[in-house]
Amino acid sequence: MKKILLSPSFFTKQKMPLTKEQQLQYIAHLIGECHKCALSKTALHHVPGFGNPNADIVFIGEAPGEQEDLQGLPFVGNSGKLLDKLLNTIKVPRTDVFICNILKHRPPENRDPTPEEIKVCVPYLKAQLKIIKPKIIITLGRFAMNYFFPEESIGRIRGQVRQIVWQELPLTIIPVYHPSAGLRNGAMLKSLQEDFLSIGNYLSINY
Ligand code: URA
Repeated sequence: MKKILLSPSFFTKQKMPLTKEQQLQYIAHLIGECHKCALSKTALHHVPGFGNPNADIVFIGEAPGEQEDLQGLPFVGNSGKLLDKLLNTIKVPRTDVFICNILKHRPPENRDPTPEEIKVCVPYLKAQLKIIKPKIIITLGRFAMNYFFPEESIGRIRGQVRQIVWQELPLTIIPVYHPSAGLRNGAMLKSLQEDFLSIGNYLSINY
């Protein structure tokens, strides 16, 4: 990966400063050209992420699934429908947030991301977060949680509000189960609903 193209100084050195939207479009373009792992060969579309470039809240999932691969958009399949319902319960419109994934191409058969795929793909996520500078990140599932807390388990820390400084950016991270876990398992769905209620309370007190 050409490091210079992903560094924030690339944007500040432009003659005309780029808007956050243009910067995100540029990252999306780089993702579209990326062949650092084999996933770009089997995927139909790259799925860089979608949403408000000025979002205070960013949701990070695992990797695109079948529908996302077909449409090039994150969380538009069954997990996305559940995420929409959960967002409705806390009265946060999708248009207010940015939604993306750890991996930007679909793994075949929705298998788990490999450590090597994560390693080559996360610089894009890093670049997106440095452009957006969100206040809150809600991680969906263990892979996104492990990016910030590599030693933790999702069952132990889900629903907790954690303040960290990441790459000089103060962030509030709230890990929750992945919506697909909620679709498979009633107890996990209940946990997800409870955690979204807590997120709603946290937002109403702090924002
Ligand atoms: N699951 C994810 O982790 N991300 C998506 O975009 C869709 C399903």
